[in-house]
Amino acid sequence: MTNYIDLHTHSTASDGVYSPAELLQKAKDIGLRVLALTDHDTTGGLEEAAQAAQILDLDLIPGIEINTDVSGGEVHVLGYFPEFQRPEFQAVLKVLRDARERRGQRIVELLNEQGINISWERVREIAQGSVGRPHVAQALLEAGYVQTIGEAFDKYIGTGCYAYVPRYKLTPEDAVYLIASANGLPVIAHPLELPGLDELRNWLPGLCEAGMVGLETYYGTYTTENERELLALANEYNLIPTGGTDFHGPGIHPTPLGGRYVPYESVERLKAEAAKRRGKTPPSFKLPPPVQEK
Ligand code: AMP
Ligand code: ZN
Ligand code: FE
Ligand code: FE
Repeated sequence: MTNYIDLHTHSTASDGVYSPAELLQKAKDIGLRVLALTDHDTTGGLEEAAQAAQILDLDLIPGIEINTDVSGGEVHVLGYFPEFQRPEFQAVLKVLRDARERRGQRIVELLNEQGINISWERVREIAQGSVGRPHVAQALLEAGYVQTIGEAFDKYIGTGCYAYVPRYKLTPEDAVYLIASANGLPVIAHPLELPGLDELRNWLPGLCEAGMVGLETYYGTYTTENERELLALANEYNLIPTGGTDFHGPGIHPTPLGGRYVPYESVERLKAEAAKRRGKTPPSFKLPPPVQEK
């Protein structure tokens, strides 16, 4: 089946390899028609992406991805069609990104204390936009401390490693409220990485109550069986099944850009839901207090 939709991608505004304009050009080159840009904690790539989309005649869906923490791991929440110019929304995102800066510096300090010689300046240079552990991993790779990005997470910066520093702690519900505060549509990203199917079943009532509107069902690496189970859950909870590849650049995630079939109905349902909210006064959002730094 020819696919022309990808609703989960990253650019250099967070930890992707291509700039927003380059990403849209790639999408055009392979015949995609609808693309959502969903950078971590930032909408900084969306204006450039919108300009490129206009020139290339692509349908760009503005998006974001917010990482949240639960015991035992992370849950990511995608947000589609946020009214991202809202100053209150941008103010919250800035707090999250500033916390990422301090945390990145702390990770580098902890590595330095162990005799690992990488510099914050280099990490910052690699990052360009919103800084994250993948950029630290890249610096470790460049300096020859690891052979792969995965090894950097396993040995140095993954949960439980000595240079692991927690991020600003948001719960999945916080992310739902944050996205809703910009009239965006919260969607659970790659639900099988975490929570996993059993946990997901336990959490869905609460997450739906908080205002979740979608479930990423057609995700890059998911099998037909996974897709069937997620689709059944999406239908049971009246969530919009969405999908995409989580493309960050060649070879970073296993699925190439546009490499997963996503039905057009997902796009239509997202657009219909966004239209209902657009321009309405959204609920306000208050950030929880920051975590104690390590
Ligand atoms: P951060 O938001 O800074 O905590 O970084 C989290 C990001 O790191 C995730 O969104 C993934 O893209 C990436 N990541 C997490 N674990 C791994 C891993 N084991 N190997 C490669 N990338 C990872
Ligand atoms: Zn990422
Ligand atoms: Fe994610
Ligand atoms: Fe992602």
